[in-house]
Amino acid sequence: MVRVNVELDLPTGVELLGYERCGEGHGFEVKFPFPDFCRCDKCGHEEPANYEYKKTVYAVRDLDLWGQPSFLIFQPCFHRCAHCGHRQEHLAPFKRKDVMYTYRFEEHVLRMLIGSNEEEVGGRLGISAETVSLIVENQLQDDKQIDPARVIKHMGMDEISLKKRHKLYVTLMTDLTDPNSPKVLAVAKGRDTAAAEQCLGKLTPEQRAAVETHRVDMGKVYGPVGKKWLVNSRLVVDRFHVAKQFNDVVDDLRKKNHAEVQGGLVESRAEAVPRADVGIPSRPERFEAGGARGLGASVCRRARVEGRV
Ligand SMILES: [Zn+2]
Repeated sequence: MVRVNVELDLPTGVELLGYERCGEGHGFEVKFPFPDFCRCDKCGHEEPANYEYKKTVYAVRDLDLWGQPSFLIFQPCFHRCAHCGHRQEHLAPFKRKDVMYTYRFEEHVLRMLIGSNEEEVGGRLGISAETVSLIVENQLQDDKQIDPARVIKHMGMDEISLKKRHKLYVTLMTDLTDPNSPKVLAVAKGRDTAAAEQCLGKLTPEQRAAVETHRVDMGKVYGPVGKKWLVNSRLVVDRFHVAKQFNDVVDDLRKKNHAEVQGGLVESRAEAVPRADVGIPSRPERFEAGGARGLGASVCRRARVEGRV
């Protein structure tokens, strides 16, 4: 028998009580602090907390562990107001109300959308495209605050888009200082200079001066904005963006080649054109956001084999 020791990266304030393997997923039973006093949402009455548990558990989707989904599991807890009888849930600190996924799962979804779309991301995570859209909308509505003490040496500016119902472009600003745990710092609607400046404006002048490198997509907007706002920072060409551009070029070439071949042949024959004829795969390997960029978002910080026991 060999013991594998896993160091988990749990949300702040969260304590691990137990672990349960559930099929292809991992369940972590957790607890989080409860305040001693509660203020009623309905009547405003404040009193010592009077908690009751619901006879069910919540399984809240969190980051993956070794490529498999993990869930934070806990029993929801409610305070009953002695004054008006209103029952209100004591919300877990790691997720928003009425959803069953953590804030950091939301950020993971945002980062996966870079160079991808809501169907692909939803498919890869086992959630619906609608949920992906909802996550983006919710993240846009949050007014994320950046800790002024946070030191950001490396950052990324990227655009993501939602295409399904209405075309929505969003700018993401990410702290890439720790490549294993990229942190979405700001989210703004649009992919123009104003959106980029809205993100950068959330940093203090000291924080902006401390940035050493920034990675931006190959569009025309983020580069000049970065140059103006991040005066000590060097622009880094991002493998991810090169890969995406490459994919686009390959796509164009493929379409062109197919069109030419199809001109002289019946369509069914053209579909069977050997790869060698066109010089590129008929289905190029699409770039995987996780692989090329190193999303690094995992609940597992480190795993170590401890030796025989
Ligand atoms: Zn009340």
